Amino acid sequence: MKNILRFWIWFVLWLTWVACAPPPPPTATPPPTALPQPTATMQPSATPTLEPMPPTEVSRWQPGQLMIVLLDVRHGDAQLIVSPTGESLLIDVGEQDYAPTIAEKIRAVLGKLEVDYFLASHYHVDHIGGLVSLFCDHGLVVRKAVLDRGGGATAYDSSVYRGYYAYVNAPERAFKHIRLSPGDKIDLGPALKIDALAVGDSDARTNCGMTVQGKNDNDYSIVLWLTFGAFDYWTGGDLSGMDTLEYTNVEAACAKFVPRPADLFKANHHAISTNNNASLLQALQPQVTLISLDGIGNTDALMRIVKAGSVFATNRIIALAEDKKTPILINDSDDIIVISRDGSEFVVEGTVFKSR
Ligand SMILES: [Zn+2]
Repeated sequence: MKNILRFWIWFVLWLTWVACAPPPPPTATPPPTALPQPTATMQPSATPTLEPMPPTEVSRWQPGQLMIVLLDVRHGDAQLIVSPTGESLLIDVGEQDYAPTIAEKIRAVLGKLEVDYFLASHYHVDHIGGLVSLFCDHGLVVRKAVLDRGGGATAYDSSVYRGYYAYVNAPERAFKHIRLSPGDKIDLGPALKIDALAVGDSDARTNCGMTVQGKNDNDYSIVLWLTFGAFDYWTGGDLSGMDTLEYTNVEAACAKFVPRPADLFKANHHAISTNNNASLLQALQPQVTLISLDGIGNTDALMRIVKAGSVFATNRIIALAEDKKTPILINDSDDIIVISRDGSEFVVEGTVFKSR
């Protein structure tokens, strides 16, 4: 009997160790040390010069306001959404190198390192790479649930995904691990509506009702549609928008589910050319687009986005316009902060926009 008891004690200790064992070495570039002042602009000009911006800090969420913070993780995604009643949703966290920064920023916004939900848009390292470190090294608390597209232990073949899966499914976790389905809602209080517009299924190889032919995990990205009064926001991970051997044009299928024009749009897949295609932008007609990237923009995707409305980027973008001569300059906003008090208007980095 004692031997059995001893075995179980060692088994539980081993499980805990495995779940918090150090993840594989990071591949991200080091995080930026300065926090430049937010002033994103798009300004074609003959000479591509942008002034360096002085540092700033993310601000504390105030009761009654919707706050969306797109955190700068260079090439990757990380965003924190806080509802007017204080419920919070963390979507993606960038690579492991950014875990200390993300921990610091969440504390700055919420006053604690605790969120109600974490959602993995998909399983690439630049989206979930830092999560286990946030839990194990920094003490992140997820109060209610970790949300993703499911798919089990073999949904994606990477050591980072296997570490993520082992951690969120360990039996001692206080939060639930929930597989989202299209049409599911995420409850952040009565003022906000958050619908899962699209949830890829890598078992059935589908997303937005179409068969996924490509082999890239981006194709299975979860798309959320957030509504706060008149304000509408699309955020869809790294959804693909072109048919190649690697990717499938899922954007065209998902565009059919867009209920109305979006006030705010987080560009899919860091504004790389295989995404943000004409049919999606036609459906979304975004007033403001946020781009989370490391500064390397693609002309085709950028031109489509720039023509659609205002653009804010986490890092400086310099690219050439269609004439291959005119520079497109988009200043870096570092962390991009969006605030709305009643949904009728929203403020992006100090600029006020009216919701449609
Ligand atoms: Zn990505």
